[in-house]
Amino acid sequence: MRTWEANIRKVTPYTPGEQPNRPKMIKLNTNENPYPPAPGVRTALKDFHTDCLRLYPDPAATELVEALAAYHRVDTSQVFVGVGSDDVLAMSFMTFFNSKKPILFPEISYSFYPVWAEEFGISYQTPALASDFQIVKEDYFVENGGVIFPNPNAPTSLSLPLAEVEEIVQKNQDVVVIVDEAYVDFGADSALPLIDKYDNLLVVRTFSKSRSMAGMRIGYAIGSPILIRYLNDVKYSFNSYTMSQLTLKLGVASIQDDAYFRETIEKIIGTREHAKQVLKKMGFLFPDSKSNFLFITHPEHRAKDLFEALKEKDIYVRYFALPKIDNYLRVTIGTDAQMETFYEFLRTYKKKGK
Ligand code: PMP
Repeated sequence: MRTWEANIRKVTPYTPGEQPNRPKMIKLNTNENPYPPAPGVRTALKDFHTDCLRLYPDPAATELVEALAAYHRVDTSQVFVGVGSDDVLAMSFMTFFNSKKPILFPEISYSFYPVWAEEFGISYQTPALASDFQIVKEDYFVENGGVIFPNPNAPTSLSLPLAEVEEIVQKNQDVVVIVDEAYVDFGADSALPLIDKYDNLLVVRTFSKSRSMAGMRIGYAIGSPILIRYLNDVKYSFNSYTMSQLTLKLGVASIQDDAYFRETIEKIIGTREHAKQVLKKMGFLFPDSKSNFLFITHPEHRAKDLFEALKEKDIYVRYFALPKIDNYLRVTIGTDAQMETFYEFLRTYKKKGK
């Protein structure tokens, strides 16, 4: 090691899913939306005046914050925006998890959580899920330095009903509780109705899944004005201009087209429910997903083999070589046509007796 290397901050980075981009591939590996963003987003892009790019964007991202506040019927002081929910979550870890006591998040969950915890020197404990992959709420009723969990959870796809989320928040009023709702629009209960009741609750959302805008990088958080103020203080001591001029315009355009948003979600839910029937008939087992992906396993096939065989045919799903879930595949819900190709592959794979 060189002498200067001793002083370097060393981190083990998060590994994102592969991002190949070939025209005919079927990409079901990173929970993106198979449909384009709302038509208004395209119009906003066409109407965008590049002259304004010589100026810095509004550091407070006012137009986007106002659009989100109106959409969710909250005050603008209750909304924070960032560069995807990863940015919002990273800021939240840095801002809210500063206790000597360990924070809690599920053992099987979004694999970025331990990375941020390590990066910011936050100690953590990871309660195991039940054998059916459900979060055991009682595990979060112990002393801790903060709580975070996705609802629905990823990669398990299961969600907790609002009453159980509330119990977790209610039993943790001395710390900040973050509910990561990246997938909530696909049918789970949101914790947003609780934010006026609990000033320590932060709900984090993203435009990457239900709004088909993973490429634009927009995430946001809703919570009490005091939580949002603390988040903004950290953001402004890091980078004032996180949201570009273009991001603000396209984000607002997406919010304004609620009909398209709902229609797209309904299509994905329809495809997901059909996928459950088809895969069940083929002998796959999976938790009852309320998200835009399924977490599947098959008693006769090794997930890793299936993952590799699919990849050879340019069908990408996500495989995690992690204890307890290394015989599962996380499959994003694509269009009906993409899913048909996926089922067809599975049918022939089964016939070959692999
Ligand atoms: N939370 C969860 C649970 C996720 O699965 C993801 C997607 N990787 C994110 C947050 C981050 O999404 P984004 O940064 O695109 O908003």
